[in-house]
Amino acid sequence: MSTVHDGLPISEGIAFGPVRLLRWGVPDVPHLTVSEEEIDAEVERFRSALVHTRQRLHELQGSTESRLGAFEARIFDPQLLMLEDVEVVDGTIRYIRENRLTAARAFHWRMLELQALWIRTSSPMVMDRLNDLEDLMVRVLHRLLDLGEPGDLIGDGEPAILIARNLTPSLTVQMDPEAILGIGADLGTRTSHWAILARSLGIPAVAGLVDLSRRAKDGDQAIIDGRIGRLVLDPDARDHRVYRDRQTRIQSWEGELAQIAQLDAVTLDGQPVSLRANIDLPAEAERARDYGAGGIGLFRTEFSVVGRATMPREEEQYLAYRQVAEAFPGHAVFIRTFDLGGDKFPMFLNMPAEENPFLGWRAIRVCLDREELFRPQLRAILRATAHGDVRIMLPMVNDVEEVTRVRELLSEEEEALRRAGTPFYSGYKLGILVETPAAALDAVELARHCDFFSIGTNDLVQYTLAVDRTNARLAHLYNPFHPSVVRQLHQVSRVARAAGIEVSVCGEMAANPLGAFLLLGLDITALSVAWPSLPEVKKVIRAFRMEDARQAARRALAAPTSADVTSCLAEGLGEAVDLKAFSGRWSLSLPANLD
Ligand code: PEP
Ligand code: MG
Repeated sequence: MSTVHDGLPISEGIAFGPVRLLRWGVPDVPHLTVSEEEIDAEVERFRSALVHTRQRLHELQGSTESRLGAFEARIFDPQLLMLEDVEVVDGTIRYIRENRLTAARAFHWRMLELQALWIRTSSPMVMDRLNDLEDLMVRVLHRLLDLGEPGDLIGDGEPAILIARNLTPSLTVQMDPEAILGIGADLGTRTSHWAILARSLGIPAVAGLVDLSRRAKDGDQAIIDGRIGRLVLDPDARDHRVYRDRQTRIQSWEGELAQIAQLDAVTLDGQPVSLRANIDLPAEAERARDYGAGGIGLFRTEFSVVGRATMPREEEQYLAYRQVAEAFPGHAVFIRTFDLGGDKFPMFLNMPAEENPFLGWRAIRVCLDREELFRPQLRAILRATAHGDVRIMLPMVNDVEEVTRVRELLSEEEEALRRAGTPFYSGYKLGILVETPAAALDAVELARHCDFFSIGTNDLVQYTLAVDRTNARLAHLYNPFHPSVVRQLHQVSRVARAAGIEVSVCGEMAANPLGAFLLLGLDITALSVAWPSLPEVKKVIRAFRMEDARQAARRALAAPTSADVTSCLAEGLGEAVDLKAFSGRWSLSLPANLD
């Protein structure tokens, strides 16, 4: 009988085929000792295993760069750094010398200790880096125990859907998309390095499938749908029909996308809307352009540095920002400075464990405290202004002083660039994300110091309602249509208009049809959404009249409850758009729930 397993969508695409279990793991390491005379030779064996591993990682990095690109190649950096780390190298050698352990046993022991240290923090980012550590552990131990290359574990049999407990970046990057039809893993998240590589390779993948690797057997049949994060084991004829039909509909939807991308974002009565895209990585800029983005409304720069063991260099950042700017000639590109902390932190910052990380040391607070991190980023963005309409956007600002301090830093960096003869455009715009009630309520003051506002509704909703945006248990309370949110949106829009500065919204709310309708009704005519949502949002915008949106927004502002706000909007928009078609981000003509 077929069973449905729902996990996290990692990489799009639907695949059908036989299951192949990928059995890999840290090999068993016997507890063996060596004699006093053999110690030096054992240390030497360890060092040469490190040299071999470094060479192999460099080869993998090189082939990844030519096959997938520079960003993907950097995924191997943490492992290369760990190979140099004194904690790893000297720690292992000490165990060989002091306890007369074999190199394999000493290394294994040291790595387990480091793993235990890292596990004490349960942050998803650290968990992802544990996966890198495991990858390295397998690689070095395979060498020390003469077990061959770990990549051979993938095998080269018939095309199959691989199922594993977890994957590693180096196993994933060696997969041939012709032979590996899909990947299902018990563990992993969207930010795991193997997940990023699976997306780049275009292999449909689902993670977080709990214990699927223990339930599935070699040769079982499976269907994987990476778009909704589902794997069907032992599918029956009906499942095959449903997913084949879904595959056909996705293809025709993609055809429709191409057409929508060419159309203007304009309401039925002629109000033009600046419809921009949110991206996390520079390589997404081109996808966003193909999806019809009129600029980048939010570039989350921190995604290029989370999990990194060293500070990103200015040059590397400049090239990334320039790549995005050049993808959008004549359009605005809003580069948000590092929004680190909360649930995103890189290893190089040694962020303290905090009781309430979302109310803690994050975003602009981190950057202003760590100028050695912030100044190179400001310089890199300034240099990118020479290549397009690049704007600087500061996250989590509460106070005017934060903006004025950034202006001081910027003018010092501008001066340095001038002295060095490095080109930049001095008329660039600096603005903030309005994402705390403090900023929304203090918008009048902040507007005097900003060239634009972009409202980050994802955080504004969480901070206004005191509802953690990542807590699935509270999802029903996380309501962007709460009257308190609607009033703040109205207030920020009014203040920005009076001050003559642009106001946009770059939170998920803008991708919700009712949200887009409300925001336009509040005269917020610049929206930025995750790039895959662009066609849907454009379709909605083109289906209603600005006048109707304004009227519905007026009624929503007077509504006493969230439910009343939603029904005012649904009534106003209902006739123009079939709301049932929009049950989620990918939902137009593709309902997430197929049953
Ligand atoms: C927001 O808070 O709405 C926002 C756009 O930023 P992020 O989702 O990255 O916190
Ligand atoms: Mg935010």
